[in-house]
Amino acid sequence: MELPFQICEILERLESAGYSAYVVGGCVRDAEMGTEPHDFDITTAAPPREVERVFADCRVIETGIKHGTVTVLYKGIGVEITTFRVDGEYADSRHPSSVSFSARIEDDLARRDFTMNAIAFSPRRGTVDPFGGREDIGRGVIRCVGEPCKRFSEDALRILRALRFASVCGFAVDGPTSEAARNLRANLHRVSAERIFVELKRLLCGESVKQVMLSFPEIFAEIIPPIGLQIGYDQNSRFHDSTLYEHTARAVESAPSNPVMRLAMLFHDTGKPFCRSTDEDGVSHYYGHAERSAQIAEEQLRILKCDNETCLRVVEIVRFHDLPLQDSKRFINRQLSKHGAVLSDIILAHIADDSAKTPEARERIPKWRQIFALTEEVAAQHPCLTTRDLAIGGRDLMELMPPSPRMGEILRSLLAEVIDGTLPNEREPLLIRARELANNL
Ligand code: ATP
Ligand code: MG
Repeated sequence: MELPFQICEILERLESAGYSAYVVGGCVRDAEMGTEPHDFDITTAAPPREVERVFADCRVIETGIKHGTVTVLYKGIGVEITTFRVDGEYADSRHPSSVSFSARIEDDLARRDFTMNAIAFSPRRGTVDPFGGREDIGRGVIRCVGEPCKRFSEDALRILRALRFASVCGFAVDGPTSEAARNLRANLHRVSAERIFVELKRLLCGESVKQVMLSFPEIFAEIIPPIGLQIGYDQNSRFHDSTLYEHTARAVESAPSNPVMRLAMLFHDTGKPFCRSTDEDGVSHYYGHAERSAQIAEEQLRILKCDNETCLRVVEIVRFHDLPLQDSKRFINRQLSKHGAVLSDIILAHIADDSAKTPEARERIPKWRQIFALTEEVAAQHPCLTTRDLAIGGRDLMELMPPSPRMGEILRSLLAEVIDGTLPNEREPLLIRARELANNL
């Protein structure tokens, strides 16, 4: 395993001071899988105060000193160094009630969640892999270190972490680990919404999210109850060839891999079970479901403590995911004025949605792509979208009429005409039209 020179020097310094030291966790796993590690965590026999002493010439931040973690700023990078640790009893499915330090790397590896995350390496000492992590990575399997029920009872977030790694790495969750995850899913209620939401977003952005959703529907329903109504739900509609839940899983995976789009597809049809009607031909319809889904998305995202910006954007995409799209600049201008940059995401939602339907429905996708391309083209020309973009403003109107609330009305009328292309966004024609409107009021 190749390590940055700073990491090698830190390991050597600790070793020279008489303490064994390794890189551990995500970076060893990533290297083993052939992906570039994004950061390097170090674990050592040195107690935190000793680490501070060894790096007395560096800036050291006491990141989590009680848990044995300090961050050392060393030759331009920040590195977390944690003392070998044994976690005490978990009273609440969340936090160990105590931690104690250990002199043995094996103790530290035993407290880690999955075998693939419980491998340590040092240039001097080689690889320490007491739980068969490398073999599991080779087989593409996620397996708890130790007894799965015990490990998920200690910290229920590990249930979602297992699903996240399965989704991101394209791995399978080992049998007993899967079973324990399903059986103990109710403990997820004891985990903070913030921690759940972080894992959920990463899980959704994985390449294999569909398979994970199909394998663990109960766990998704546990964290987002309205999803439960989708499981096994027959849509009884011409464009659908799978249950509502399967459709959702396919739509999520078909969307671009970013949290906003994936969350939008997760919620886009949650309103359907509340909006069903069946016509005389026995076919079901779901009028108003987009609005209902938007309400559910907002409610659930608030519960998950989602940040405001993400929430607003996701809810808007969900609300308009079935907006009838037209292939014309006038239509796009109007919608850009209403939705701004979210319009592109709304079109991407149409594509993801239809990708998860019958071949007949999928035939519409090229049309959505064309509208998407046209939207990008129109948006790049910085069109006039708000009254502030108009070539005249309130000050110009004051020369035509006494100040009044009607001025805002006039500006909005002008904007509508500019967006529709019946009036150019230029001073003279705008002033002429403004005068007409002012006289007609
Ligand atoms: P990434 O940084 O790519 O998310 P990671 O494996 O480094 O992956 P972190 O959350 O940074 O994940 O955790 C670092 C290491 O700490 C993990 O590899 C694992 O060994 C251990 N770990 C993290 N969370 C838990 C947990 N809830 N229970 C047990 N061990 C954990
Ligand atoms: Mg990490």
